[in-house]
Amino acid sequence: MSTRERAAELDAQDPLAHLRERHHLPEGLVYLDGNSLGAMPRTAPARLQHTVAHEWGERLIRSWNESGWYTAPARAAAALAPLLGADADEVVVADSTSVNLAKLLHTALTLRPGRGVIVMERGSFPTDLYVARGVLALRGGGELRLVDGPQDLLGVLDDDVALVSVTEVDFRTGFRWDVGAVTASAHAAGALALVDLCHSTGALDVDVHAWDVDLAVGCGYKFLHGGPGAPAHCYVARRHHAGLPSPTPAWFGHAEPFAMSTGFTPAPGVQRLAGGTPPVLSLTGLLCGLESLEGATPAQLQAKATALTGFFLELLDAHCPELEIATPRDPARRGAHVSVRHPRAYALVQALIARDVVGDFRDPDIARFGLAPTTTRFVDLVTAVEQVRAVLDGGEDTQERFAARTAVT
Ligand SMILES: *Cc1c(COP(=O)(O)O)cnc(C)c1O
Repeated sequence: MSTRERAAELDAQDPLAHLRERHHLPEGLVYLDGNSLGAMPRTAPARLQHTVAHEWGERLIRSWNESGWYTAPARAAAALAPLLGADADEVVVADSTSVNLAKLLHTALTLRPGRGVIVMERGSFPTDLYVARGVLALRGGGELRLVDGPQDLLGVLDDDVALVSVTEVDFRTGFRWDVGAVTASAHAAGALALVDLCHSTGALDVDVHAWDVDLAVGCGYKFLHGGPGAPAHCYVARRHHAGLPSPTPAWFGHAEPFAMSTGFTPAPGVQRLAGGTPPVLSLTGLLCGLESLEGATPAQLQAKATALTGFFLELLDAHCPELEIATPRDPARRGAHVSVRHPRAYALVQALIARDVVGDFRDPDIARFGLAPTTTRFVDLVTAVEQVRAVLDGGEDTQERFAARTAVT
């Protein structure tokens, strides 16, 4: 059996193969960047058109009630909760990941008075580090303590640590933390644990209850297919709801927003983290994305992601042995993307895009291929590796025309 035949066989047996049909992908494109921007749900254009032209254009302010604008964040949270292993009332859909992280870092520091240290990874997605430093500065002090990996964690935990915050899947290498173990270590030291699920929600077997993690944030426009800038999500474990602070007391987090009272009475639970008026158009896209995942369990999504990454690694080993694999071989320790290091990674990615294989580049030397379990087929990976081989054989990664940097990489 040829590799392509084997891939076709794997696609034929894939229990999630039907999810691809729920998304639009341009003909002939191999899209391996669903971890930056998920493919568009097929329902999105008509739904957004209706929301804009009818609900906004014709019905105007009445749509808050009659078109469900007001309930859209709660409906999104309810659809999302099973993908997190959470209850619907432990999830709020609002704002960007960065803003939600700021809210939850304030929350953690408030819930652990007398402790001023946040532990994070040195290689965190930069916005997470910016936000952490910003929150500590606003609170007038504290310390951001950085670790290089799980091996360093126990050595930095002491009575000053309020929170251990890790991103489950490293955006560069695809390394995956054992969030249950991190949480247990944090709790043993009297600290809380937060997980950033940007590269997990919608792709991996996320289970916040089983992990016992206290807080989580995640992204709406990556594996949830919510569209560019779709709102993000926050999770807060129920045990923290009673004494939950309101770091951004705003009217959609008020117990009775339309009572218009001058004092802030927080809504129950995580709803108090909602902030201001929800972005209805973006939420409409997110609801389409969540519907496009309907019926897929986190365990199924992860099984597919693991099979895809495993197959892709096998193909790279066989056909492109000169590329250094940055992603862990252990399926339990990797997420849903595969990264290779290459001295001309940027040009490699650009040359591949010119050949209709879309991955992305991450500074300084990472070429990254996101294998969304919703839309990626095994046969796409055969095509992708053939094109990587062609780029390398043709020396296209050394060509000037592929080396010029664009604003967004
Ligand atoms: C994508 C991503 C973000 C994005 O944050 P925004 O505020 O939505 O721009 C944050 N953290 C991680 C780890 C990410 O992967």
